[in-house]
Amino acid sequence: MNAFECEYCSGEIRPKKVTVNHSYEGKLVIIKDVPVGVCQECGQRYYAAATLDQLDILAQNSDTAPERISVPIMVMSP
Ligand SMILES: [Zn+2]
Repeated sequence: MNAFECEYCSGEIRPKKVTVNHSYEGKLVIIKDVPVGVCQECGQRYYAAATLDQLDILAQNSDTAPERISVPIMVMSP
């Protein structure tokens, strides 16, 4: 696989900072300014292994988050 080509659609992958909804051990945390590669065609995100490790560490320390929001939970009807 070419590192700069999307594995799903062969689109171009460009570096971008995004907001990630990350779930770790049942705790959901929103992490801003996460550096990822984003496919310009289909929007698939690519994370470096070190970035994923950091997301887990941030989630484990989410008690210290400076901001909190309340999130509505919906169920899709059949
Ligand atoms: Zn793609």
